Amino acid sequence: MNTGMQNLVGLDRQELERLAQSLGKATYRGRQLYQAIYRRRAPGIAALTDLDRDLKRVLSAQYNVDYPRVQVVFTSKDGSARYLLRLQDNTLIETVYMPEEQRVTLCLSSQAGCAVDCRFCFTALLGLQRNLSAGEILGQALAVVKAREILPGTRLNLVFMGMGEPLLNLAQVMKAVHILADPQGFGIPLRRITISTSGIVPRISEMARDPGRPKLAVSLNASTEEQRTELMPINRKYPLRDLLRACRAYPLRPRELLTFEYVLLDGFNDTDADAQRVAKLLRGMRAKINLIPYNSGPELSYRASPVEKALAFQQILAGHRIPAYIRISRGQDIGAACGQLRLKGMRNGDTIA
Ligand code: SAH
Ligand code: SF4
Repeated sequence: MNTGMQNLVGLDRQELERLAQSLGKATYRGRQLYQAIYRRRAPGIAALTDLDRDLKRVLSAQYNVDYPRVQVVFTSKDGSARYLLRLQDNTLIETVYMPEEQRVTLCLSSQAGCAVDCRFCFTALLGLQRNLSAGEILGQALAVVKAREILPGTRLNLVFMGMGEPLLNLAQVMKAVHILADPQGFGIPLRRITISTSGIVPRISEMARDPGRPKLAVSLNASTEEQRTELMPINRKYPLRDLLRACRAYPLRPRELLTFEYVLLDGFNDTDADAQRVAKLLRGMRAKINLIPYNSGPELSYRASPVEKALAFQQILAGHRIPAYIRISRGQDIGAACGQLRLKGMRNGDTIA
């Protein structure tokens, strides 16, 4: 519902300070607002208890603190949950909640749909609907934190591995990341925030120059140029050779590793020869590989590799001293691959509830 109100979620500290000033208040009132919205996660203007009453009254005439609405939630047997969230203009996006023993990981979307068109990906089938604003990115974290009643002390990890290509919406993604990582804001350390990219080479170099950059994960998914182009047509524009050069030049903090993601597709990119080639491509890099079991669906013909193949792949990489982890696939029973929910929603005319 569009109420004509302006959402305060998405404004950074300077913007909120300027807003306070423009309403005839002291600058520190803007800072209070900032902390209330992101650090205390106050769910509405009425909940901004430490603000002066006059400011609250003035604000509530024109502004609100609005999170995306939960349209539907699918909870998996393994405890993970997939949220279909509705934005103000009724656009639907997905956010995933994954609890582990000591921490919670949230998987955020950066765009509604995606233009990159990877052949194995369900989000690709939606095409690109639009970029998300910083407020809509932050709103996903705030909405799920509220829905799950996650307490401020809980160890949170954030990964931009939902719908969309974060590096094709870099300005809004980085604005959100700065607020997420700010101790006075959301307060999640940069080392617990990861941006995953299909390999937009010039934007990787741009990210490399930002001192506030989070961790980087690169979707490799293939062992040769030809194979990668077949899976990810973006490889024509940004070939593997250039991508790996940008990765080698990427500045890493002490103890930080680059992450490569490799979705194992049965009979396509999962042979011993593929593993040998991947080891060669990554030789000498400070990197690890996450081997991702494929989530299949009726719309696409790719299938997951058998477990033995994944283990053999991992062994070969380990033999070359490349740490490789087989990611446990969460939410298999709820259509957990990004885009799968939305795709269902589209088929039903967005009426699932
Ligand atoms: N656009 C970014 C981030 C979103 S996709 C990127 O491509 O990196 C996040 C990860 O999910 C990518 O590594 C992608 O290869 C993987 N992925 C996409 N569809 C998948 C599926 N159906 N099953 C398993 N992994 C998938
Ligand atoms: Fe877009 Fe990533 Fe899916 Fe490729 S894998 S289509 S880049 S969301």
